[in-house]
Amino acid sequence: MTILNQVLLHTPAYSQMAGALTYLSDAPLPPGTLVRVPLGQRELLAVVWNNGPAQPSDAALDPARLRPIAAVLDALPPLNASWRALISFAASYYQRTAGEVALAALPPQLRDLSSVQLARKLKKLAKAAAAVSLDTPIDALPTPEGHTNNAVHPVVLSDEQTKVISQFHQNPGPFLLFGATGSGKTEVFMQCTAELLASSPDAQALVMVPEINLTPQLEDRFKARFGSRYGADAVVSMHSGMTPAQRLNNWLAAHSGAARIVLGTRMAVFASMPQLKLIIVDEEHDPSYKSGEGARYSARDLAIYRGRLEGAKVLLGSATPSLESWYHSRPAAEGGRYLRLAMPSRIGSGKLPLVRRVDMNHQPKSCVISPSLLAAIAQRITRGEQSMVFLNRRGYAPVLQCTDCDWKSECPHCSAYRVFHKIDRTLRCHHCGLTERVPRACPACGNPDIAPLGRGTERLEEHLAELLAETRRPDGQPVRIVRIDADTTRHKGALESQLAQVHTGDVDVLVGTQMIAKGHDFRRITLVAAVNPDNALFSSDFRASERLFSLLMQAAGRAGRDEAVANQSEMWLQTCHPTHPLYEALKKHDYPAFAASQLKERLQAAMPPFSFQALVRAEARTQDAAQGFLNLASQAAARQSDTAGLLAQLTLYPAVPMSIARIANVERAQMLVESPSRAALQRFLSAWQGVLHNTRTQPECKGVIRWAIDVDPLSI
Ligand code: ADP
Ligand code: ZN
Ligand code: ZN
Repeated sequence: MTILNQVLLHTPAYSQMAGALTYLSDAPLPPGTLVRVPLGQRELLAVVWNNGPAQPSDAALDPARLRPIAAVLDALPPLNASWRALISFAASYYQRTAGEVALAALPPQLRDLSSVQLARKLKKLAKAAAAVSLDTPIDALPTPEGHTNNAVHPVVLSDEQTKVISQFHQNPGPFLLFGATGSGKTEVFMQCTAELLASSPDAQALVMVPEINLTPQLEDRFKARFGSRYGADAVVSMHSGMTPAQRLNNWLAAHSGAARIVLGTRMAVFASMPQLKLIIVDEEHDPSYKSGEGARYSARDLAIYRGRLEGAKVLLGSATPSLESWYHSRPAAEGGRYLRLAMPSRIGSGKLPLVRRVDMNHQPKSCVISPSLLAAIAQRITRGEQSMVFLNRRGYAPVLQCTDCDWKSECPHCSAYRVFHKIDRTLRCHHCGLTERVPRACPACGNPDIAPLGRGTERLEEHLAELLAETRRPDGQPVRIVRIDADTTRHKGALESQLAQVHTGDVDVLVGTQMIAKGHDFRRITLVAAVNPDNALFSSDFRASERLFSLLMQAAGRAGRDEAVANQSEMWLQTCHPTHPLYEALKKHDYPAFAASQLKERLQAAMPPFSFQALVRAEARTQDAAQGFLNLASQAAARQSDTAGLLAQLTLYPAVPMSIARIANVERAQMLVESPSRAALQRFLSAWQGVLHNTRTQPECKGVIRWAIDVDPLSI
């Protein structure tokens, strides 16, 4: 008998063959089976999605033209039903094809291995896992009181931790762990994981972090805690920085069940974990959980969905939750769907830092670091304490300008300025990458006097070094300043070694971008300063204040983590709007007050979470073509019955240029679609896809290069 198999493979999202393709096999293959199939001259990895004997309705398919499956990877268990349901859901929700989503979630190297090689790898993994469970020291097991009896790492839980963990046990979730920075959230994550793993010999946990490079400590802590109990291979990572071979091995470990804990970035939400029982999303507010390319999925939102599919508990954690999660965790009586767990206090007697605002309207003209902030930093240095100063702009100066004519260092290919990097005297475009030597004289008028305008971290570092040149450390040595940003950490291992310097105390002042504000557990920092945070207060993006508040809270959370120095720790804000409500709430470390005021504004303006949005972005040779395409597709929606019927529940805004309208000579425009009903928006988008396709083929849309839909966009 000939079986027709619908298989998914990685076909470009909007190509002709967006759906599944049909291949033949002699015997039925269970859905989820991994196979290799021929496509043109190539052989591709693919997943069997549906199959069955040839039906009369398949008559349209000419069996003579169908090709057989080339190889079945039968050493591997098929991808299970919940995994397939997750892929189908993600594809339809984010308006992509299931093939694209499924294949992006699988390690590409699977394609290159024979069944024999795969079987050998799986056997090795199983053997390692079995060896460990035989000789586990019993004293490493968590005791029933929830205290881990581990001699190396004795932990007595705080009252808040104990309470939160028992709530976690007694409820189905999903949970939002709202815990101050330093309240011991990570310890709660590890306790919940420990108890799950101890409760069942094959249960698996997925722990997600925003950016693995920025949170190496979390990985270290999990590996240290669980590696000794379950073997070094029981904790595997999944992130984009891995080699293809590591990615394959870790994926196989998760898929075969040998790995008990998968620690990863957003891509890990698609890890195949047949016994998944717990999903943790650390720093759930972090924008990097949202993918910016391909299927623009939110790993946090998919984690919630996946938890429901698999019957796994989901635990989100943050000191500054996203307003969406905060809103979902309102009391159940008011419609909340998540259970909010609170840990307001820091571990031990650690207090949150005192927030001080410097009114920049009353400082010496064009001063960058106010005299009072400078004095406070100098005082830290003489006491042997550390300070952290951050500014959201890397490079030396954001613009070079001619002092005579109007010339500025614009990028010829983008609607943006090229940034001056003094270290190698280059002008670099942070959007298209164009890098050139700084011209000797103004290219427009020949004036040799071209000057930096504004300030980036590189210039701030230089400036601080000048200001602090006379200041001495307690040991009489000059001040040590280190800068951490995307420029100083480009090389592998650079970030780690710079962070190590901060930890050992070799550094007195740490200068950097928001990169340093997240996650790190620096012990001896007693002063954190935001040099110029005001920009975001008046942004056109309605999420800008949310992001600023969370960034500043996180940054403040870096100060005073060591009890010995906690009581003198301070967060300094240099601002021209010292009485702005955002800063008032920050001063009180009052996230709930801030969230309440933001939610009120969002409700009045019918913004998320009170409405649902999607953006369609188009790229074209000209701005007219990009906008024209979107506006045409919008008009066509009104003429088509399956889309027109939904228009009453939707708002389609006119197309506008994106905030950086041109990158690398490509013009970009976007159109916002909004609805109070998520279901209506979803129905509209899937019907509108076809309209967009058709519109694109119109002669007036010839200049359009590509378009894509972003559902629940984070930046507008
Ligand atoms: P968060 O993730 O909430 O910022 P962490 O989990 O990193 O906080 O905890 C902050 C610090 O407190 C860490 O150094 C951690 O080892 C320590 N810690 C956490 N829980 C306890 C506890 N119960 N007893 C002692 N120290 C703890
Ligand atoms: Zn000039
Ligand atoms: Zn450019």
